[in-house]
Amino acid sequence: MTIIIIKDFIVNLTILISVLFFYSRIMKDSQLHQYSPLSLKLIMGLAGGITGIILMVFSIHGSFLIDLRHIPIILLAYYGRGIPAFICAVLIIVGDFIINKDFSFEVIIVIFLIASVSILITSRNMSSKSKVFLSLTASNVILVIAIYVIVLNDNKHYLISMALHVIFTYLAGYASFHLIEYIRASNELFNKYKLESSIDSLTGLNNVRKFNHISKELMKNATTRNEALTLLYIDIDYFKKINDAYGHKEGDKVLKEVGALLKSSTRPPDIVSRNGGEEFTVILVDCSTELSYKISERIRKSIENHLFILSNGESLKVTVSIGMATFDKTVNDISLLIEKADKALYQAKSLGRNQVVYKMN
Ligand code: GH3
Ligand code: MG
Ligand code: MG
Repeated sequence: MTIIIIKDFIVNLTILISVLFFYSRIMKDSQLHQYSPLSLKLIMGLAGGITGIILMVFSIHGSFLIDLRHIPIILLAYYGRGIPAFICAVLIIVGDFIINKDFSFEVIIVIFLIASVSILITSRNMSSKSKVFLSLTASNVILVIAIYVIVLNDNKHYLISMALHVIFTYLAGYASFHLIEYIRASNELFNKYKLESSIDSLTGLNNVRKFNHISKELMKNATTRNEALTLLYIDIDYFKKINDAYGHKEGDKVLKEVGALLKSSTRPPDIVSRNGGEEFTVILVDCSTELSYKISERIRKSIENHLFILSNGESLKVTVSIGMATFDKTVNDISLLIEKADKALYQAKSLGRNQVVYKMN
């Protein structure tokens, strides 16, 4: 008998861990928490109920509550509070009725008691470790009492069932919480690194990697849709002098502000990036050459007219030189477009800086 109970608990534990892993992966972008939308709470309550029913199907037939069906309730109460935990509890009760073809008043009491106590514990102000421990302990106390009341006339069974229940509830409970927390943490890290791999941390603009990716895509679109595409290569004039005179930190402040000015003087479909150091690019999507030139001038003037305030209160004027190149039949590769814009920028620098140069060919 003991071996069968242990085997069934192991099967239950394996199912629970596999299902949790599966849920956590597919729900990676919509984590359940106290303030989740009602629809997510309903979905998760339903998912928890189905999990509880699967666990019941694989429990020992003819035995009372010898399975891990209560774990999904505890998990839902912990992460999503009342609504998902109670939906899960109701589904487990309905499932128990369907599976055993009998109405068990004890099961209803035990399941609702576990749900209520778990919600009560998790809504208290205490550490997450204490919440997990207390929820698992409370459910064990409820189940041990229930098993005692129901199988009282069979002492041997009661002791074995009780001991195994306690061990497996702690084991499964801690394993489940650990798994969910582990998957949540790795999802968060993944999203963080994904964002950091495309965003320049100083200015919040696209970094050069993202610029390369987007520009290739835009090139393809422009070719198929026969749309105009303009690249502005923007370089701060005499930036080294700013660093030398005021320090690297103040230089960074200027870079950040130039980034913000570029963003505010363009429209949302335009792509603003920091391509490195004090060099920025703007890709103007579907803009005529005349309009692109006007926008370049607007950008140049907005920086020229801006007063950069340093940490010591001093104000500073900064200018930029802009090289402009447009995509056409002769420049249908992003590296060629960059090369052309770079040449235009070089010309703007040699002509005295603080100006826009458009390279026709
Ligand atoms: P030009 O008008 O010819 O462009 O002159 P410049 O001084 O702007 O150009 P140069 O290429 O000589 O110097 C660029 C400077 O930008 C040198 C480098 O120290 C500075 N720089 C590059 N990246 C950063 C950064 O992230 N922060 C700061 N503060 N400075 C940077
Ligand atoms: Mg430069
Ligand atoms: Mg420069």
